[in-house]
Amino acid sequence: MSDAIRVVVSGAGGRMGREVVHAVLEPTHEMTLVGAADPAFAGRTVSEALGIDCPVVIASDLSSVLRSTPADAVVVFTIPSAAMENIRVAMAAKAVPVVGTTGIGEQDLVEIRELAAQHGVGAIIAPNFAIGAVLMMKLACQAAKYFPAVEIIELHHDKKLDAPSGTAILTAKLLADSREGSSVSPAEHPAPSRGEDFGGIRVHSVRLPGLVAHQEIIFGGLGQTLTLRHDSLERKSFMPGVLLAIKKSRGLKKVIWGLENII
Ligand code: NAP
Repeated sequence: MSDAIRVVVSGAGGRMGREVVHAVLEPTHEMTLVGAADPAFAGRTVSEALGIDCPVVIASDLSSVLRSTPADAVVVFTIPSAAMENIRVAMAAKAVPVVGTTGIGEQDLVEIRELAAQHGVGAIIAPNFAIGAVLMMKLACQAAKYFPAVEIIELHHDKKLDAPSGTAILTAKLLADSREGSSVSPAEHPAPSRGEDFGGIRVHSVRLPGLVAHQEIIFGGLGQTLTLRHDSLERKSFMPGVLLAIKKSRGLKKVIWGLENII
């Protein structure tokens, strides 16, 4: 596998990170795991920590991995507060960050574009790596032209740190852009239980054990409603998108936001 893409996974011991490690180590995917970072599992091999046969030792932080190991791509599925520093470290080492951690905002994106210009290396950031979720957003933008009244309900497992989800925020932005000029306006003094307002679109967050990642977009019209719903039932649902992004990262010089721009 001399031409295999060299991948580092940051947040390797987390719920998403361990799924990525599994996928990268699958021999048919033509990529190799050259490093892993996660403070919670530092000093242990991937085999010991995750029960996946691999001798790579998990480091406490990404910079110590990249100091000794050249990499093509760094997959980032850390907690939100660690994501931007991981992106900076990856790009300074000329590795393309493939970022799944949510909470990357407009200001962060400006900085990532500056880093891309400075280091001559791109980045891929996707609030949702599941193809079904991307399709749901595309279909919703079509529907918004005919049904301007819309609300979003996002439902996730109870350990999710951020709310609303990055997918819900992105969906609200896309919908707000699609219905620009429509006559629908949000209530001026909504009750607290009416969710949070994103560009005039109400977003409601549910956190419960048993859930993985789900979203409903409900449109209302004259005497009718239309509901679009996507369910990620297992974290495996995100892996085809993550693997595609890793493959697209080879030689990438620009910053790509959203899986829809690489499929
Ligand atoms: P998680 O289980 O909490 O995993 C995050 C891991 O990152 C933890 O093991 C954490 O260790 C580790 N970590 C913390 N600081 C770090 C650092 N500086 N460097 C390296 N690792 C660090 O969370 P998750 O459920 O896997 O989700 C991770 C992120 O992905 C969340 O933002 C989530 O919303 C997002 N997500 C995105 C998608 C998508 O398709 N884009 C899909 C699902 C989830 P500690 O426990 O010690 O803090």
